Amino acid sequence: MTYPNTQLFINGQWQDAADGRTLAVHNPATGKEIGHVAHASRTELDQALEAAQKGFDTWRDMTPAERSKIMRRAAGLMRERAEAIGRVLTQEQGKPLAEAKGEALAAADIIEWFAEEGFRVYGRIVPSRNNLAIRQMVLKDPVGPVAAFTPWNFPINQVVRKVGAALAAGCSMLVKAPEETPAGPAALIQAFADAGIPAGVLGLVYGNPAEISSYLIAHPVIRKITFTGSTPVGKQLAALAGQHMKRVTMELGGHAPVIVADDADIALAVKSAGAAKFRNAGQVCIAPTRFLVHESIRNDFEQALVKHAQGLKIGDGLAEGTQMGPLANPRRLTAMAEFTQDAVERGAKVLAGGERIGADGNFWQPTILADVPLDAKVFNDEPFGPMAAIRSFNTLEEAIAESNRLPYGLAGYAFTRSLKNADLLARKVEVGMLWVNMPALPSAEMPFGGIKDSGYGSEGGPEAVEAYLNVRAVAVMNA
Ligand code: NAD
Repeated sequence: MTYPNTQLFINGQWQDAADGRTLAVHNPATGKEIGHVAHASRTELDQALEAAQKGFDTWRDMTPAERSKIMRRAAGLMRERAEAIGRVLTQEQGKPLAEAKGEALAAADIIEWFAEEGFRVYGRIVPSRNNLAIRQMVLKDPVGPVAAFTPWNFPINQVVRKVGAALAAGCSMLVKAPEETPAGPAALIQAFADAGIPAGVLGLVYGNPAEISSYLIAHPVIRKITFTGSTPVGKQLAALAGQHMKRVTMELGGHAPVIVADDADIALAVKSAGAAKFRNAGQVCIAPTRFLVHESIRNDFEQALVKHAQGLKIGDGLAEGTQMGPLANPRRLTAMAEFTQDAVERGAKVLAGGERIGADGNFWQPTILADVPLDAKVFNDEPFGPMAAIRSFNTLEEAIAESNRLPYGLAGYAFTRSLKNADLLARKVEVGMLWVNMPALPSAEMPFGGIKDSGYGSEGGPEAVEAYLNVRAVAVMNA
């Protein structure tokens, strides 16, 4: 199985770092080194910034139709290459091949949607209140070169949501993608390169995340920052962006509640929330985490979820039939052990899992904890792994209060057959995205983002494009 080494993409060319520095890339299913990625220094960052400015000057002056054509071509290439890209993604990130291929295919859908949305960057004509000779216009212009910072859980998806919206708005984008999973993002950028995107419109660098972000955020060429990752890092980057008065989109951590009401379809709840929980081994910002189950159905629900978890086929993502792969890096294994130990010490019961699998690779059993005390770490911090924590409730108001207790506000799930309950939950649960009686179903056309400590801004729908636009008022007197 071949795995490509990854270079930096600067001014339309793939290149190594001038000092030859690289970082090793490992396969999380084996722990073995499979390749390396170039590590940018200040020299390459300066080249990439100059190119991003040049790329912006070119891209902003192209028509939406010209941009759309290139974007659609890139989408087509992602679709054609999905199988091969999926294999690369699984090797570096661990997710099952079907999920990895699905990520490449979803990228194509996202690019296409934004390619169309670029035609709809509308302004307004506003009547003058006292002089018909005055034509008042509201103009929307691209904000400028953007710096994007993306994580390792969805190496392609996290980049393409940003790239799609930025390109539709007419911005150039310099991406600092994850060093642990570099080849997936590189395959995406390659599709744009092969589709004929002008030099500098997209750049891709890797290196030391903190050094790169502090340099790019402060740099005058960069006009907007977009970051996906943990809340603590997001707060640091947003503060730095604030010091330099840069626009910001922050897509941060979550701690999704799953409310299972007494009138829920239990089988549907287990199937939907179970699938969402263990997808990508739970390393998903919108993964369900706090399972709040009505006391009257708690035993049935717990048993069914345990059966679901124990029935999952775990293994190397490239192996036929694998439903859950390894965790993406050894840090997550350490975190899973800490979350489990802490919960047990505080009185939680382990209904399933709770242990590492084998000694090779980062495999962790799908874990279900019940009777979890409110002060357990897993009920407060994002586990970001295959771990469900269950508590029971007696009234829906109690479940809503628990859902809203944490500072996070990204995703939420609810299962109920009552329209009245669904409406109450839609109004009261403080999350950016709520799915009722279904698994998470994000798409390019729907807003994607959080509230509270989960960040601000949206990465889907027309709002995603707005985030890359300046609004300007121009009035002309035709005297
Ligand atoms: P982390 O918080 O150090 O890193 C998260 C991501 O942010 C990584 O991709 C990293 O390269 C990047 N990063 C870290 N410091 C940065 C900086 N100063 N400037 C720019 N980028 C920076 O920890 P981690 O171990 O990689 O991930 C653990 C936690 O991160 C998880 O528990 C989860 O909460 C969060 N996370 C969230 C998402 C998401 O989709 N929202 C994705 C991956 C990780």
